[in-house]
Amino acid sequence: VVAAASSSSPAVTTAEAGEVPATMKAWAYDDYGDGSVLKLNDAAAVPDIADDQVLVRVAAAALNPVDAKRRAGKFKATDSPLPTVPGYDVAGVVVKAGRKVKGLKEGDEVYGNISEKALEGPKQSGSLAEYTAVEEKLLALKPKSLGFAQAAGLPLAVETAHEGLERAGFSAGKSILILGGAGGVGSLAIQVNQPDTHHHCISIHQLNLHLTFTWPERTSRTLQLAKHVYGASKVAATASTPKLELLKSLGADVAIDYTKENFEDLPDKYDVVLDAVGQGEKAVKVVKEGGSVVVLTGAVVPPGFRFVVTSDGSVLEKLNPYLESGKVKPLVDPKGPFAFSQVVEAFSYLETGRATGKVVISPI
Ligand code: NDP
Repeated sequence: VVAAASSSSPAVTTAEAGEVPATMKAWAYDDYGDGSVLKLNDAAAVPDIADDQVLVRVAAAALNPVDAKRRAGKFKATDSPLPTVPGYDVAGVVVKAGRKVKGLKEGDEVYGNISEKALEGPKQSGSLAEYTAVEEKLLALKPKSLGFAQAAGLPLAVETAHEGLERAGFSAGKSILILGGAGGVGSLAIQVNQPDTHHHCISIHQLNLHLTFTWPERTSRTLQLAKHVYGASKVAATASTPKLELLKSLGADVAIDYTKENFEDLPDKYDVVLDAVGQGEKAVKVVKEGGSVVVLTGAVVPPGFRFVVTSDGSVLEKLNPYLESGKVKPLVDPKGPFAFSQVVEAFSYLETGRATGKVVISPI
């Protein structure tokens, strides 16, 4: 899919209006390893689309820890064949639609997580490229209120937060502890649990973030996600000292500084614990009897359980009104967005494990 075009192919690298070139720029690796395996290919083949897919002209992409773990070869056994163009999260414009595509057309601005199963045969031709082919069902129209860079940071993380809460059976009145509240998944999990109905305006100067949050009214309960949003009796989350204020601004009632306190030694117990750090053994110590511990990474100790996210455009569609109104806000790490030429640097920043919200690549 990403092989260089043969020399007989027309050397087209930019599209004229309405035209899709034969080749594109794409980051790719043909061996597993550290960041040095990533190479920018100036003449990768633009992927073909299947009947149920659209071709997206990528405007922005975001990195997830799975991109780095996959590149390191951690999921070799179930990965698609090399060479790989990495990238799950995309925001961009539809430039071509397959025969069976019903709801999307050329010119639509879309976003989504392009691989239905994150670890089972994820796409060989990912989103860190000028074009990517995606099943219609994995995409949603991009909220008009969001730029491509903001939208690109949402899909995999918010789908994970949503699916985790669903699987935990989260519902009105329950309490939750989110381990890793300042990361991509945690920052969204806090927001979708936000129990407060007040409107807040917050600037977080320390992190050089300027965000305005407004929270959903209790009346709009049609959205499945909203059931979870409004009902939480208490949201607690962990982070290091400089990020505690961010946790609060995202809606956490309790911000636990993991550099000063062990959450497992505190008296509070929770109905649900969402572990986005890999602290499964400690997580089970703070769950109430009969509660749920959802583990995204690392050790799983009963009653904890792990799942792997499934991409689903309908989850994004359900979230869109909340994004349109600014009730749920994507959090783009202020070190970014990274330029397309800076993908190696973006990976290495992600791999520090210190990112605040999402590591975004934009423009592409
Ligand atoms: P991020 O890279 O966005 O997480 C970075 C954040 O983690 C930082 O803000 C950091 O805050 C925080 N952090 C690091 N160590 C700790 C700690 N000991 N306690 C509290 N916070 C900590 O990751 P994601 O949110 O995108 O993903 C989290 C994990 O979940 C990853 O391992 C990922 O692979 C996995 N995952 C699994 C999925 C699945 O389907 N099973 C889906 C999505 C993600 P600070 O600087 O304050 O330490």
